[in-house]
Amino acid sequence: MNELRRTKIVVTLGPAIDEPEMLRRIILAGADVFRANFSHGSLEMHEKRISMVRAISREIGKSTAILVDLQGPKIRIARFKNKKIFLQDNQDFILDTDLGEEEGTDKTVSLDYKELPRDVHSGDTLLLDDGRIVLQVKNIVGNQIHCKVMVGGELSNNKGINRLGGGLSAAALTNKDRTDIKDAVRLEADYVAISFPRNAQDVKEARRLLLEAGGHANIIAKIERAEAITNIEEIIRAADAVMVARGDLGVELGDAELPGVQKHIIRLARSLNKPVITATQMLETMTYSPIPTRAEVSDVANAVLDGTDAVMLSQETAVGKYPDKAVAAMDRICLGAERNPIAKTPRSRIDFQFNYVDEAIAMATMYTANHLDIKAIIALTESGTTPLWMSRVRSSIPIFGLSRHEATQRRMALYRGVYPIPFDATHIDRRVLNKSATEELQKRGILKKGDWVIITKGDLIGVHGKTNSMKIFTVE
Ligand code: PGA
Ligand code: MN
Repeated sequence: MNELRRTKIVVTLGPAIDEPEMLRRIILAGADVFRANFSHGSLEMHEKRISMVRAISREIGKSTAILVDLQGPKIRIARFKNKKIFLQDNQDFILDTDLGEEEGTDKTVSLDYKELPRDVHSGDTLLLDDGRIVLQVKNIVGNQIHCKVMVGGELSNNKGINRLGGGLSAAALTNKDRTDIKDAVRLEADYVAISFPRNAQDVKEARRLLLEAGGHANIIAKIERAEAITNIEEIIRAADAVMVARGDLGVELGDAELPGVQKHIIRLARSLNKPVITATQMLETMTYSPIPTRAEVSDVANAVLDGTDAVMLSQETAVGKYPDKAVAAMDRICLGAERNPIAKTPRSRIDFQFNYVDEAIAMATMYTANHLDIKAIIALTESGTTPLWMSRVRSSIPIFGLSRHEATQRRMALYRGVYPIPFDATHIDRRVLNKSATEELQKRGILKKGDWVIITKGDLIGVHGKTNSMKIFTVE
């Protein structure tokens, strides 16, 4: 049996992996979740990509999840007459919502977010293009924001604007997002990511729209604003999963704050039983280079040691030159980091009060498995909840989530250390259930005669949330 990687890999779809052969290589290299980034591209394009992922995954026999990432209210400048300009340090520059959208020059440019002159004050620092350009607000004159360029450089059409320290008032869900949620439901996305939520209310609003459209996708809150850090616990509780969206978050908080905040979010998400994705610039230089830098290797490895469920590739796979090599590098680095004792030594949850029966069974299972020579954990599951609880505890023992529901199989693709396997327990005689579940793993070369396993299930097979037993036995 190949070494099983516990940390999952999220791959962003894009032109670089549109060829079926390339996509197949990406899945074989270890992609678990595919992100359709709705900030770019047409709906037809996303739809085409998603059906290709599903077709090839099915062919290969691997459960992969689809994540639709909503654009959100990214605040952007409008466009320049000549597409781009160059800003000198110390020059004056005006952001002017009254100016024509296409009329930008090296003195002034319009904004797509018309409220900005009301949201900022003199002395504020504005960061453009992920912080490459730094402006200081001198004063506001009507709809014009007069700035001084602190750090200049090239600036091109539609670049994003952040305010250092956060505080811009834009609501998380734009009209485009509201339409996109309906399309995500139609496309049967497994996860929908909300960009720039400020608080739990933003997440709940997205859930309301999703349910209204008849969808069952899990909601990922992207943590990428300073306010989201203030409200971090309520946001994580309201969402089904979170993303440490380091691109925008690093701009709002300042890059030096980011590593500590990343560790805090991962720890909190794990303790609240929510999967967490660490995202952006993880193997950035592999967009152009076939090998990562030492710093990138270290970054990915540290996220794994922090306990992240998944690591994400963005432009590395969407537009990069070496998308399959980037996935292979992720796979290799995660496996390497997981061999370190830090990654597999359980942290005690001894001071936690358990609130659910399935949670208690999951914790008892992990405690036992980590202290006995258990080869595998088998969770017979309807919704994937018990394996999710299990995956919050550090371990080197694989957790196999056996479910008859494809949606559950795909959802579990994101959980650290959980491996989805299609299995319908509802038609199997209870007396031979353990044996047939074990055979599923023997068939795949995971278990052999004499191995110890733990199986968890409920009295009522096929009922969600009812896991109430664990059993230890040896494979016959
Ligand atoms: P984005 O989100 O790639 O959609 O901007 C991730 C991030 O901000 O890090
Ligand atoms: Mn972002």
